[in-house]
Amino acid sequence: MLNASYEPLNITSWRRAIVLLLKGKAEQVEHNGRYIYAEFPLPTVIRLRYYVRVPYKEIPLTRRNILERDRHTCQYCSYKGEQLTLDHIVPRSRGGGDSWENLVAACVRCNVKKGNRTPREANMRLRTQPRKPYSSLHFDIVKHTQGNLNQEWKKYVIGI
Ligand SMILES: [Zn+2]
Repeated sequence: MLNASYEPLNITSWRRAIVLLLKGKAEQVEHNGRYIYAEFPLPTVIRLRYYVRVPYKEIPLTRRNILERDRHTCQYCSYKGEQLTLDHIVPRSRGGGDSWENLVAACVRCNVKKGNRTPREANMRLRTQPRKPYSSLHFDIVKHTQGNLNQEWKKYVIGI
């Protein structure tokens, strides 16, 4: 569900989405081509007709949240698994701090290979530019857009 401003608000069930559409509180933005009733395509993205104010909630910078943001995938070689470490893009010994922009998930092999160097020096490319997730909704959206799921959501979400 998008706010009137097109920012993602929450993830809701299609039943609730249809209720909001029928009540005229929301408009359909995307559907996936499947129909529940002959003339009613199943909504996958709806937008509220009125603006809802959302209080800003800071997401704690934790190992778990960084791994979650990076989909438990090494940001250098795409290895996916449990044995992941956190890599400081600019090494700590060289002034790199703990931040959303400087920490990424990395497999042990890549972390050791990169060592005390920057990605450029080590000639290792980051898959994506790490960003701060804007809300805990970010994580839910990541989960719901794995593989080929809900691909039509992605254009409404920054940094996915
Ligand atoms: Zn790796």
